[in-house]
Amino acid sequence: QIIPVRRALISVSDKTGLIDLAKLLAENSVEILSTGGTAKALRDAGIKVVEVSDFTGFPEILDGRVKTLMPQIHGGLLGRRDLASHQEQMKQHNILPIDLLCVNLYPFEETVASGAGKEDIIENIDIGGPALIRAASKNHSHVAVLTDVHQYAAFKEEMKQNSGTTIRQRRKWAQAAYARTAAYDAVIASWFADQAKDIFPERLNLSGQRKQILRYGENPHQQAAFYTNGEQRPGVATAQQLQGKELSYNNLNDTDAAFEAVAEFDKPSVVIVKHANPCGAASASSLSEAWDLALRCDPVSAFGGIIAVNRPLDKETAQKIITIFSEVIIAPKVNSDALEILSKKKNVRILETGAMPDPLAQGMTVRTLAGGYLLQNRDNGRPSDFKVVTKRKPTEKEMEDLIFAFTIGKHVKSNAIIYVKDKATVGIGAGQMSRVDSARIAAHKSAEAAQAADLEKPMTQGSVVASDAFFPFADGLQAAVAAGATAVIQPGGSMRDNEVIAAADEAGIAMVFTGMRHFRH
Ligand code: 5GP
Repeated sequence: QIIPVRRALISVSDKTGLIDLAKLLAENSVEILSTGGTAKALRDAGIKVVEVSDFTGFPEILDGRVKTLMPQIHGGLLGRRDLASHQEQMKQHNILPIDLLCVNLYPFEETVASGAGKEDIIENIDIGGPALIRAASKNHSHVAVLTDVHQYAAFKEEMKQNSGTTIRQRRKWAQAAYARTAAYDAVIASWFADQAKDIFPERLNLSGQRKQILRYGENPHQQAAFYTNGEQRPGVATAQQLQGKELSYNNLNDTDAAFEAVAEFDKPSVVIVKHANPCGAASASSLSEAWDLALRCDPVSAFGGIIAVNRPLDKETAQKIITIFSEVIIAPKVNSDALEILSKKKNVRILETGAMPDPLAQGMTVRTLAGGYLLQNRDNGRPSDFKVVTKRKPTEKEMEDLIFAFTIGKHVKSNAIIYVKDKATVGIGAGQMSRVDSARIAAHKSAEAAQAADLEKPMTQGSVVASDAFFPFADGLQAAVAAGATAVIQPGGSMRDNEVIAAADEAGIAMVFTGMRHFRH
């Protein structure tokens, strides 16, 4: 169906080809409506034009934010020519049909690329333009819409051939129009996403309230104090101390590490920490069972450790805990019968937090270095895209253990290698300068623990293993295979991924890539 063009609205930021197009319209006795800048360009070229503001009787306002957002304009674009009710309403409200819309949008992309300021960029979000385009495109049965200067040639050809526009072309232009507004909004959305990253203030004002002057710092010759920053995150800073000696600098640091780690898990879980590294962690159907499993990993290191749990501490677990010497116990709640048992060990510091912190919450970490601070948001990342890269797929149970291992790995100092079986760590290698050393140390410690417990074989036999970052070479993976691991989880992304995958395939084990790294230093 060919629609003649009697009235056109032209509102363009990019004025390329404008005059040529308008001349053709004028020759065909088309009435041209235009917004301020476009109207001026046309007038300057001697082309007759009606300003939208004269057409509607309403001026452009708010610095051009509202130019064409008027019923006369949108009615003229949206009114159906084939519906009597639409025709009647248009007549009633003095709305004249518009048969051609020619719009290109404020140059948002170019403004961002030019390095312009925020205000300038926001002003270059076109509002009326996309509204016009979408209205005209919806009504493409009756209205032609040009959104790109490259379409003008085809339009001219249509006018020459048909003295109007064909439905075939109008449909094509409508599709291009919606693709254009969608792409335009996508660029705006991604700019906003980038803005959200701008969370770091130009000037840093670290403020806090002194909560405690500590006996000493990391070492006795260092003085230290503890400050709270007002953040209401359940943990060491807001906990109530139910009993025990004063918390030390290292206690506070280690307890924080332990509680943040145990908060990762939904099931009843225990994490035991020494020197800010977990030396045992487990999830089970009860706290008491989780305790047994967590302790089993490295009972030697657990001596004098920090114990964190993610459930109210019960009597049964408390009875087990007091059999070994520990520095701090932190729990969301401590049942009164459990507290009674723990009170036999008067020196043990017991902290009750009232709740568990949200592991996915946003937050900031600060660290000092000579002459400055380093800020980053907290590592609340959790991989969601697990890609099996080997011939063998992990079983469901292996996959659960792999995720547990990778999650604990986030709380172990790099290079971190974690062996896990039945949602309990059975070997942890932490803080080594080479990944292969971490893999070997974890296996070695695990073998020692098994020997001490009179187990028949090392606990790493039939375990799964997590690495906090990619294996740069196959040797780290081979060390894990030698220790008896049947499945591996790691971020992937090494130059030698192919070698590492080949080594896994050769050993017949399963390997999963997370695409997310969890360095912790
Ligand atoms: P002109 O240079 O003619 O003054 O303005 C043309 C530009 O204004 C075009 O890019 C068009 O998309 C945009 N435009 C048209 N109507 C409106 C409106 O009501 N609000 C806004 N923000 N932009 C509009």
